[in-house]
Amino acid sequence: MDRYALIFVGPQGSGKGTQAKYFSEYLHAPLIGTGEIFRRHAKRSSLISLTISRYIRKGKLVPNTVIRLILTKKMRLHTHDPVLLFDGVPRTLSQKIILDALLKRNNIVHVRMILVNIPKNISLQRLRNRKREDDTQATIESRLSDYYSKTVPMIHAYKDDNRVIVIDGTPSIAHVTYSIKEQLKIDKEFGLLIK
Ligand code: ADP
Repeated sequence: MDRYALIFVGPQGSGKGTQAKYFSEYLHAPLIGTGEIFRRHAKRSSLISLTISRYIRKGKLVPNTVIRLILTKKMRLHTHDPVLLFDGVPRTLSQKIILDALLKRNNIVHVRMILVNIPKNISLQRLRNRKREDDTQATIESRLSDYYSKTVPMIHAYKDDNRVIVIDGTPSIAHVTYSIKEQLKIDKEFGLLIK
């Protein structure tokens, strides 16, 4: 079976999480969203949950050992699904290496990154209006700074293999969804997935 992965990335407030959820339902594909997984974890009291909660409260990246563990565990649950979606991971070059190895091991050969792009001032504006527990002035600054210094270079590594679809994230949610579908439709490998 040919297996596919769609990886949603974008700066904070870009709406990539909303799009990832939509496409998960639309394609009947499981979504592995690290932000949501970690926020759920942080409410528990196991040793790993305490570690995770220390990082997300500060808006810092959770260590790669945890990322590898969570990704391995989640992917093991979905070995029979033709399509897997990822949201929030990879965020760094080292996480790209971890995910690439896992994708390969799971026979996922078709990979596209969907970059939902917005400028920094729109990120700041949208996050001011979002009231999530881990959104404080300090965590927002830390996460945005990590995005530009660590995630953008990781995206460039995917761009080198022509595997990035860039979408303007500034219009309405429905418009962004439409743009993603249109771009996937004309993609030689992924076009088959879109009705
Ligand atoms: P945002 O995109 O607004 O930063 P997320 O929901 O993706 O929000 O992530 C929330 C928090 O979870 C991050 O601040 C970070 O602490 C942690 N996190 C999520 N994904 C990763 C990841 N791939 N690597 C390390 N930490 C992560």
